[in-house]
Amino acid sequence: MATTVTLQDSMTREPREVAPIDGETYRFYCCGPTVYGVAHIGNFRTFVVQDTFRRVLECAGIATKHVRNVTDVDDKTIRESQAQGQSLRDFTTHWKDKFNNDCVSLNMLKPHIEPGAVDHIDHQIRMIEVLIEKGNAYEKEGSVYFSVKSYPDYGRLSRVADRELRLGAAQTANDSDEYDKDSLADFVLWKGRKPEDGDNYWPSPWGEGRPGWHLECSAMSLEYLGETFDMHSGGVDLMFPHHENEIAQSECCSGSTFVHHWFHITHLLVDGGKMAKSSGNFYTLVDLEEKGYTAEEMRYVFLSGHYRHHLNFTLDSLLASRQAISRLSRFEKALAERAEISEAPAYDAARQIGEAGPFQPAFKALCRDLNTPDALGKIFTAIKSIDTETLAQATAAKLYQQYHFVLAALGLKLVTKDDAAEDIPEDIKAMAEERWQARAAKEWAESDRLRDALAEVGWLVQDGKEDYTVTRK
Ligand code: AMP
Ligand code: ZN
Repeated sequence: MATTVTLQDSMTREPREVAPIDGETYRFYCCGPTVYGVAHIGNFRTFVVQDTFRRVLECAGIATKHVRNVTDVDDKTIRESQAQGQSLRDFTTHWKDKFNNDCVSLNMLKPHIEPGAVDHIDHQIRMIEVLIEKGNAYEKEGSVYFSVKSYPDYGRLSRVADRELRLGAAQTANDSDEYDKDSLADFVLWKGRKPEDGDNYWPSPWGEGRPGWHLECSAMSLEYLGETFDMHSGGVDLMFPHHENEIAQSECCSGSTFVHHWFHITHLLVDGGKMAKSSGNFYTLVDLEEKGYTAEEMRYVFLSGHYRHHLNFTLDSLLASRQAISRLSRFEKALAERAEISEAPAYDAARQIGEAGPFQPAFKALCRDLNTPDALGKIFTAIKSIDTETLAQATAAKLYQQYHFVLAALGLKLVTKDDAAEDIPEDIKAMAEERWQARAAKEWAESDRLRDALAEVGWLVQDGKEDYTVTRK
C-alpha cells in the first residue's frame, strides 16, 4: 500500500497530500535549464530537490511521469549563440550535454521525457491561434501578446494583488522573456522577427518570428501531460511572471484547471549572498570537482537543508558532507560484511523493498513536506542504536535492504572520497583509526601525537561530530 506523502502547495500555501489525479500515475512538469552556459549549483539545488521528490514518491509506491524541458530558444540562447558564432542548435546541444553530464554525476534520475522548445514550435502556434480566437490574445506589428486583463484570475499564485499591481491599470506590452517582478504587463506569445535574431525564426500566421519563453512550457506540458496535470515545479524566481503567465495562457486556452499542485524551491545562497559571477562566488559542479570535492558531497549539501528555506552554501559545508557520507558509508560496509552481501541494490531494486524498518522515521520525514535534513538526522539516530558487530547474518541482510531503501529515496550512493580517489595505505588507515579512538577516549596527548605523525608522512585528518576523514595533504 502506498504511504501518504504531503508537500506544501505554493498556490494554497498549505501542505497537501500528493496523490495522482487519475489514481495511477503522478504527472509532473519541471521547468528545465536554459541551455546558454554551464548550470550553476543554484540551478542544481532546484533539480536535485525535484529529483528527490520523485524518488520519495516512487519509494512510497506512487508511479510517476516526470517531464523536464530544455529551454533552447529564448533571448539568452539566441544572444549567446550569436556571440559565439554558432548555430542555435549546435550551441544549445553543447550546453545540454554538459548539463546532462552533471545530472549523472549528481545521481539524478533521468526524466521520462525531456522535450526542447525548438521541436514544438507548431504546438505553440496552435495555442496562440486558440488564444486569439477566444479573445485572450492580440496581434501587434507581427508579434502576438496575451492580454492580462482578459484573465481576471491573473496573479493568484504570486498574489499580485498583495504587491499592489492592479489588473486593468494601464498596461504596456512587454517583449522581453524575463521582466521585472514589479511590472504587470501583457506578455509576448509570439515575437515578430528582428534583425538580431539572425537565422532563428519560423513561419507563422503572423509572419516570421519565434515563440515567447513562457508559452514553451505551456505547450510542452499540454503535449506530454494533458490539459490538467498533477504538479508543476521550479525555483521560486519562476513564480512570477513565468508560472503566472503559464497559468493564464494554459487555462484560457483549455478552459480547464492547469495544475493541481505547485512546488517551488527556495534559492541557494553562497557565502550568505546571492550567487553572481561578478562577486566571485559563482560555482559550477566542475569548479568544485576541480577543488577536490565530489558531486555526491554536493548532493548531500543540498539534502542538508529544507527546500523551503534558503540554503547557504560554503566550501566548509562540503567538508561536513564528506564526514557525514563517510560515517554512512562505514555503517553500510559493516552491514554488508555482516550480511555477506557484496553488491548494493540498484535504484529500482532498492525502492521496491518498500520498507524502512528502523529507518522508517527517516522515510516518514521525507514523506512529510520533503524534510530531508530531518531525515538525515533520523538516519544517524538509527545508526547509533545499531551495533553491527552483534547482528546475525539474516538480521543484517534485512537491515541492509531497509537502509538501501531510504538511501534510494535520498539518491545517496555513498561513494566516499576514499573510494573515489586514491587508496589510503592500510598503515595510515590504522593510525587514523587509532587516533580517533584515542580522541574518543579523551586521550588528547596520544591523539595529538598520532595526528602529528600522520601529518609528517603527508596525511591530514579532519574531525567531524560523528566521524573523521583522512586526505593527502
Ligand atoms: P534557468 O536555467 O535560469 O532557467 O534556471 C533553471 C532552474 O534553476 C529554475 O527552476 C530556476 O528557478 C532555478 N534557479 C536559478 N537560480 C537558483 C538558485 N540560486 N537556487 C535555486 N534554484 C535556482
Ligand atoms: Zn517553465
